[in-house]
Amino acid sequence: MQHEPVDAYETLVQFLYRAPIGLAQTTLDGTVEMLNPMASSLLMPLATDAGLDNLFDLLAPVAPQLPAMVEAFIEPSGMICEGLRLPVGVQHAASGSLQVLSLNLTKLDPERLMATVADATFEVQREQEMLSRRLRNAARTDSLTRMPNREAVREELQRLLARPQDGHGFAVLTLNCDRFRQLNDSLGQAGGDQLLMHMADRLRGALRPPASGFEPAARSGQLAARIGGDEFVVVLDGLRARADAERVALRLLDALAHPYVIGGHEIVCSASLGLAWGPDAAALDVHDTHGEHDADSLLRDAGIAMVEAKRAGGNRHAVFEASMRERAARRADIEADLRQALAEEQLFVVYQPVVRLLPNGGVDRAAGVEALVRWRHPQRGVVPPIEFIQVAEECGLIGALGDFVLARACRDFMDWQARLGDAAPRLMAVNLSRAQLGQPGWIDSVAAVLRTSGMPPASLQLEVTESLAAQDQDTQVRLHELKALGVKLALDDFGTGYSSLSSLHLLPVDTVKIDRSFVCQADTSFHHRVLIEATVKVAQSLGMTTVAEGIETRSQLDVVRDQRCDKVQGYYFSRPLPAQELLDWLLQETAAS
Ligand code: C2E
Ligand code: MG
Ligand code: MG
Repeated sequence: MQHEPVDAYETLVQFLYRAPIGLAQTTLDGTVEMLNPMASSLLMPLATDAGLDNLFDLLAPVAPQLPAMVEAFIEPSGMICEGLRLPVGVQHAASGSLQVLSLNLTKLDPERLMATVADATFEVQREQEMLSRRLRNAARTDSLTRMPNREAVREELQRLLARPQDGHGFAVLTLNCDRFRQLNDSLGQAGGDQLLMHMADRLRGALRPPASGFEPAARSGQLAARIGGDEFVVVLDGLRARADAERVALRLLDALAHPYVIGGHEIVCSASLGLAWGPDAAALDVHDTHGEHDADSLLRDAGIAMVEAKRAGGNRHAVFEASMRERAARRADIEADLRQALAEEQLFVVYQPVVRLLPNGGVDRAAGVEALVRWRHPQRGVVPPIEFIQVAEECGLIGALGDFVLARACRDFMDWQARLGDAAPRLMAVNLSRAQLGQPGWIDSVAAVLRTSGMPPASLQLEVTESLAAQDQDTQVRLHELKALGVKLALDDFGTGYSSLSSLHLLPVDTVKIDRSFVCQADTSFHHRVLIEATVKVAQSLGMTTVAEGIETRSQLDVVRDQRCDKVQGYYFSRPLPAQELLDWLLQETAAS
């Protein structure tokens, strides 16, 4: 199509006139030579008395650097600046937010500049939205595992709680590693982090729907999150029956329980899981749903159920019931009181004699004692250890408690040597908890107590429970380190835990203490008698001594004596006694025998 020159000129003017972008041509000092209507309308809000005569004057309040940029640009032509953002300071008509312009400045030739101006308000708005979305996601993501975090879980729970009921239910599952603190101590923080990342992967993998086959459980909504330390949460939505949730719970636990390889070591780390139903689970034939329905109380209740699962031995799940809340509150009370007890020295140690059975039918009463901790509670009187040892383990007070008992026992033991000579007990047994064994530097602190008290290492017997001793490679290493100090080790409560007679030879122990639950039926149950006999025989073949715990009657004593048990302990001889009474008991009985 051919145009007359006049037409062409007119067309070009129309083109510039209607262009939806602001165009301005200026001299090098900013004097405006040409301006299209879009440029004047965009720049108008910046104009003061001088009008639109000079671009640099006009833009001085928002871009004072322009003259210098032009001066510094020595090339004959080219782009001087691109996409410079100019906050105009007036409200944008369409969006209501403050208007932002975008400016490009080009040198056309040695004398002229071309400025293009566009409205960038929407673009800036979009960028800001994206940024805040990114920030929000970061605030809702756990940086280690890239899982959603506690905040994200709370939001999801709030959403589920607010939606109308539809006959489906949801459940909150809280998972916690059974001995993370101990593993973290021995693996170091980097190793601990690695373990957490593996656990996160396993959880994600276990929730992923299987490649084939139909699975009814919770397809419509699953969220796996890490809400702190070694605590994970899974929210299952779209449940049609309570069994669906429990099936997923078992699958998650199974996924976590397989060994992990970290730094070349194989680590076993099972978890405990607590499950709390959302309020709409009533439709699923779940009766114990909640009184309170907010995100935090759901998380708290799932956590309470998780602690119950842990207390029941770990590697299992527990479903929240209202009665658990009360027990949790009681434990929290004990914890607070126990902190005070340690600070105010309300704890003390009693000693129960462990006597050796002599071939002539008599007993050696100075064979040894076992140190047993007690708590003189200002309101509740003397509290037995069964009520507070586990709480102390859970809340990290066991280290201080154990150190106190060990130091006290060694000091008393040395004191007795000085006062009674040959009549003093020859062995001091002190109970160990699993949490102590995992503490870094703990073996050194045992060595330090031995040194400062002057206690001969061979006179100290540390007692570990079967379940602890059987646990893993790491524990075995610690036990061997203890043995290397010269102390004796005993396997406590034998018969109640995991290990069996056939694995006894794997444990570095000197003594096996047969649990009271066997001994108390020794004279009435053939089955128990046989078990005791077998234990004594195996222990003796391995060069270990045996102690029968909890002898209360003469006939129980007769049975274990017949079975060739080496030592016995029980109310039949003496209850645990305060140090002074023990001395009286030793002297009195020594004098009498
Ligand atoms: P354990 O080490 O097996 O201690 C023996 C328990 O049996 C003691 O209970 C003792 O009083 C009780 N007992 C002894 N003879 C008889 C008897 O003839 N009949 C009956 N019914 N019971 C008898 P206690 O003192 O209540 O301690 C319970 C458990 O608490 C201990 O079992 C031990 O596992 C733990 N424990 C006690 N003191 C400490 C401690 O200082 N540190 C740690 N970690 N655990 C401790
Ligand atoms: Mg014991
Ligand atoms: Mg015992």
